[in-house]
Amino acid sequence: MKVTTMKCMKCGKEFPVSLDRYVCDVCGIEGILDIIYDYKSIEISKEEIAQNRDYSLWRYKKMLPLEESAPVPPLQVGWTPLYRASKIEDQLGLNNVYVKDDGRNPTASLKDRASAVGVAKAIEAGAKTICAASTGNAASSLAGFAASAGIKTVIFVPKRAPKAKVAQLLVYGAKTVIVDDSYDRAFELSVEITEKFGFYNRNCAYNPYLVEGKKTVAFEIWEQLGFDVPDRVYVSIGDGCITSGVYKGFYDLMQLGLTEKMPRIIGVQASGCNPIEVAMKTGEFTPQEGNTIADSIAVGVPRNRLKALKSLKESNGDCISVTDDEIRSALLELPRGTGVFGEPAGVTAFAGFKKHALAKDIDSEEKVVIINTGNGLKDIDSAISVCTMPTPVASDVEAVAAHVKTLV
Ligand SMILES: *Cc1c(COP(=O)(O)O)cnc(C)c1O
Ligand SMILES: [Zn+2]
Repeated sequence: MKVTTMKCMKCGKEFPVSLDRYVCDVCGIEGILDIIYDYKSIEISKEEIAQNRDYSLWRYKKMLPLEESAPVPPLQVGWTPLYRASKIEDQLGLNNVYVKDDGRNPTASLKDRASAVGVAKAIEAGAKTICAASTGNAASSLAGFAASAGIKTVIFVPKRAPKAKVAQLLVYGAKTVIVDDSYDRAFELSVEITEKFGFYNRNCAYNPYLVEGKKTVAFEIWEQLGFDVPDRVYVSIGDGCITSGVYKGFYDLMQLGLTEKMPRIIGVQASGCNPIEVAMKTGEFTPQEGNTIADSIAVGVPRNRLKALKSLKESNGDCISVTDDEIRSALLELPRGTGVFGEPAGVTAFAGFKKHALAKDIDSEEKVVIINTGNGLKDIDSAISVCTMPTPVASDVEAVAAHVKTLV
């Protein structure tokens, strides 16, 4: 078996592999588990990967906590494009900048990587009903994957979840509970309800298999760069699962003897909700309110903070924050500079990158990857709020011509 144990991030206690254990029995909800592999039992080479014609995250199935023959949900996830951001390079005097567009997944966010593995594990566990709480994207993603696999879902979202994300839940047929409170409260309720009703729990910052799915974004970055590890990866942080996944992916590659270095992982938070940045700087964690336009990272109590902090520290990375005004600027700068349309939390990583670039904190030759974690169509109200809506013009040629003259 390639997975040997599940190890508590807090106290280090190890548990036998199990489908229904989520957290450490000593540390409780703080004791998120990490999936531990016997790397020697995984035989894989760059040549083998390069020849794989499966252009989805399952091309790395050998490096995931699933048997080769395990059934997986049918939606196609991963192998999202990695674009060279030449125009951005010119603007900022850099030479090696890339954008990984994970808004190009079936439900339009990076969460689909987690759902793919999470639902595969739920199928293995014979789960009938999966439960989760989410700021929005994990919910819409789970709803889509569960629909594709014929599993029921009960989903908790906070009142502020953008309409497009709620629309996804409803069309996929998820039993949706809109909690008249914050995401943090919705999370607590979902954990209690899961226990009460015996559901399968898909909360990322809880179910350790989900970070395993998210790590495939690191495998892809490495492969798409021609089997090269970048110097830095910028990623936005909410609960800290994507950050932990990026770290785990590059860690696995090193353990498997495929790479020799870890990129610096730079986490980016919103200044109105930056508990990880504060914990990085002071060593102390303090819960916060989620005050930011970037709803997907409005997480005042990041559930996976221990894993995320470890990932940032061990990669010699950092955590910075950007203001909502900087996020608003990035909502236009990323699409206008690259063609990639991100939601507020998606462009937050770009805003953090830009802040570092303007501060001359990035060497011009450094290879930098910025992950866009969610599609801009997820939150069109925010997108429209940073633009000027044109007023309708009378439909005759002269009026239109006069109007166009003012535009060009
Ligand atoms: C969930 C999410 C994040 C944050 O990921 P965490 O794993 O919670 O840190 C960032 N951006 C988008 C678009 C998301 O949906
Ligand atoms: Zn523990």
